[in-house]
Amino acid sequence: MALDSTFDLIVLGAGSGGLAAAKRAASFGAKVVVVEGDQVGGTCVIRGCVPKKLLVYGSSYGEYIGNAPEFGVLINDFTICSKTLLKNVRKEVQRLNSLHEKFLENAGITLVHGWAEFLDSNSVLVKDSNNTRILNGKNILIAVGGVPKIPNIPGASLGWISDDMFLLNDFPEHIFIVGGGYIACEFACILNGLGIQVDLFVRGDKILREFDRDLSKNLEDNMKLNGINIHFKTDILGLESRNSKLVVFTSTQRDISCSGLLWAIGRAPRIDSLNLQAAGIDVSQGCIITNEFQSTNIPNIFAVGDVTNRVNLTPVAIDEGRAFADRIFGSKSRTVNYDLVSKAVFSNPEIATVGLSEEQASRIHGKKQLRIYKSTFRPMSQALPKRGAPCMLKLVVHTKTDKILGCHMVGEHSSEIIQMAAVSIGMGARKSDFDQAMALHPTIAEEFVTMT
Ligand code: FAD
Ligand code: NDP
Repeated sequence: MALDSTFDLIVLGAGSGGLAAAKRAASFGAKVVVVEGDQVGGTCVIRGCVPKKLLVYGSSYGEYIGNAPEFGVLINDFTICSKTLLKNVRKEVQRLNSLHEKFLENAGITLVHGWAEFLDSNSVLVKDSNNTRILNGKNILIAVGGVPKIPNIPGASLGWISDDMFLLNDFPEHIFIVGGGYIACEFACILNGLGIQVDLFVRGDKILREFDRDLSKNLEDNMKLNGINIHFKTDILGLESRNSKLVVFTSTQRDISCSGLLWAIGRAPRIDSLNLQAAGIDVSQGCIITNEFQSTNIPNIFAVGDVTNRVNLTPVAIDEGRAFADRIFGSKSRTVNYDLVSKAVFSNPEIATVGLSEEQASRIHGKKQLRIYKSTFRPMSQALPKRGAPCMLKLVVHTKTDKILGCHMVGEHSSEIIQMAAVSIGMGARKSDFDQAMALHPTIAEEFVTMT
């Protein structure tokens, strides 16, 4: 067992938050070590945002090619090969993994492979298959992310979690997806786009419960139009493997079969194996408690990203990591702004949002204090094929101040458009400011500045 010299900072986890914090701390001259039990890059790069978005691109070609003849491009026959897509996505992930390792090396950061657990508030034990070592640090940052949840029902382990989807040799012919959140909707649309039969099982009566209802209803309708079967108010009671099929028992149907099932029912902070009690770190409802400065109850221990279960998105983890390093190593005190986090679901059609939903704004300000602007139309890209999901743009405006409280969109390029709208809304844009902007024609986003 080797005993290393003391580091200024030990970072547990080389994901979005950990990497951002480590690099920012090193840029201030701190001596930093990053401990990673799996591949450098974390959820986003290895088994989340990046490979998911590549699958989204891959899954959209069928629709483009289907529309091509209307634009005079005649394609007689085509085959979707998910095996090739998955193989190429994995190759790209490996490239990014090496790139992130190189970034650490270039920044002079030590990388230790292995799983870490606390020994006390200044030291961690790191174990991999060959070695065990102790690292000592003046400061420790916990950035270990989360893991997908699996329900406690018979046969649950026969289902996949999202991590598994990127490792499959090929996708199944017919999949059941359980959940109505981000991952369920995104994978349902990806697989549907690749020609796979998809049944979605949702325990409640709507998908994407936290989103503006006009957005989630629009997506729901379009998912159904695209051929996804959505079963609301249905619980999964158990799974069995029978004759190379998966037999599923639900609260509404006795036994139905598919060739694979994906659990997409949320994620939980990955704290079980950290031995947090050795350092005396407080936990509440399964996540590490931090204040607005990423500090835990132990003065030299901090936490960022999904392990704190605040807003579980990559840009938030990155900003928390950088804010932490700026404060501790750069003497620049700042907090993270959680008020206006833009969000997108990379479904088909895509949805994106910034600010308050109509429902949230009604709860805060009262329905009578709001003006709602909505526009639903067929984008010009669909004018010739005359099929596809219509776009919907929506503004939630505070009547008294004319301030835009929420800006929402469903349809092509919505994430790109909302990202830019977020800048003006963060600056306190009013409806009259949007009205003053000259429209850029012909675009989809021009609807936002011409709504009456
Ligand atoms: P992670 O990125 O999860 O990094 C944690 C790292 O810690 C991991 O590499 C893990 O192996 C390591 N680790 C864990 N325990 C230990 C230990 N004991 N010792 C050493 N290392 C350890 N967000 C978006 O903003 N946009 C998206 O489009 C998006 N798509 C997503 C798609 C999927 C399928 C999933 C699952 C998530 C997606 N997210 C998306 C969420 C985003 O990936 C996370 O919010 C983000 O990665 C969190 O970063 P983090 O640093 O907190 O943790
Ligand atoms: P979400 O929290 O988005 O959704 C979980 C879904 O599972 C909800 O529909 C919830 O229902 C349902 N659910 C919860 N428990 C059960 C249960 N026991 N049985 C059946 N259904 C259940 O989680 P995801 O797993 O989809 O994604 C995890 C997180 O990862 C997201 O919250 C997001 O932060 C991040 N992510 C972000 C993406 C992006 O930015 N585009 C993409 C993918 C993930 P109910 O509504 O009734 O609670």
